[in-house]
Amino acid sequence: MSVDPARPLQGQKALVTGASSGIGAGVARAFAAAGAAVGVNFVGRRESAERIVEEIRGTGGEAIALQADVAQEAKVQAMFERFVEAFGRIDILVANAGIQQDAAVADMTTAQWQRVIDVNLTGQFLCAREAVRRFLGQPLEPAISRARGKIICMSSVHEVIPWAGHVNYAASKGGVMLMMKSLAQEVAQHRIRVNGIAPGAIKTAINRAAWETPEAERKLLELIPYGRVGEPDDIARAAVWLASDQSDYVMGTTLFVDGGMTLYPAFREGG
Ligand code: NAD
Repeated sequence: MSVDPARPLQGQKALVTGASSGIGAGVARAFAAAGAAVGVNFVGRRESAERIVEEIRGTGGEAIALQADVAQEAKVQAMFERFVEAFGRIDILVANAGIQQDAAVADMTTAQWQRVIDVNLTGQFLCAREAVRRFLGQPLEPAISRARGKIICMSSVHEVIPWAGHVNYAASKGGVMLMMKSLAQEVAQHRIRVNGIAPGAIKTAINRAAWETPEAERKLLELIPYGRVGEPDDIARAAVWLASDQSDYVMGTTLFVDGGMTLYPAFREGG
């Protein structure tokens, strides 16, 4: 089969969690533009998810909004059920939903610790497990993709960079990294590819305080050798590639999309 290079996800069905804002919304739009039918998962404001769905439909794409808290097993299972009812199969999961609840460790409540682990780590596990179950239950369709299914785990540079004041978040993303690799090792034999993306600083709601004022942005840029804060599209383009057959031999890899944040820029002058 020849794939239109402009539409590398043509005919595929993709579920993106946390897709009503920020990176997830960018991925949903880019996947639709690449030819995929998209499930736009949201937990809170339905209007935001419906707006993304309408936008995609307005450009001739296919999309549906799906409400579910990814930290709740039954809700995740019901979401996959509705997705497959609507689209018939699933080819791609982007486990993107995530939160921060920041506090100095001495002040961090158990609830803050637990909620971040529940959403960022357990939420990705619940979605990935459900995706694997579905992938295993459906035939390989070489006309659609060389893989039976693809999972992309949205991690962070904080899967490797320790982060004071955010021990819950960094622990969740470190966990995502080894969950992703262990899963990739386990399911590659079934022609299922699992990879991660580690964004650096991307302009979204989750880190608004870090880029909102010129002073905050100037401080943030000290950490970014490339000299600009990232945009959701920077991540979306990487996600399209990782979900497409262009990356068919790539598995268990974290793709860092961070403007060089993990290059330890303080060592340019120091060290
Ligand atoms: P965002 O706040 O715009 O997006 C997070 C999304 O997750 C929101 O739409 C939110 O409603 C959703 N969400 C939260 N809890 C949920 C739940 N329980 N169930 C379902 N959805 C839920 O911020 P973002 O920057 O787009 O974040 C997306 C992902 O990217 C997160 O996993 C985040 O950790 C990661 N990330 C972001 C950055 C950055 O600089 N923006 C950097 C590294 C990693």
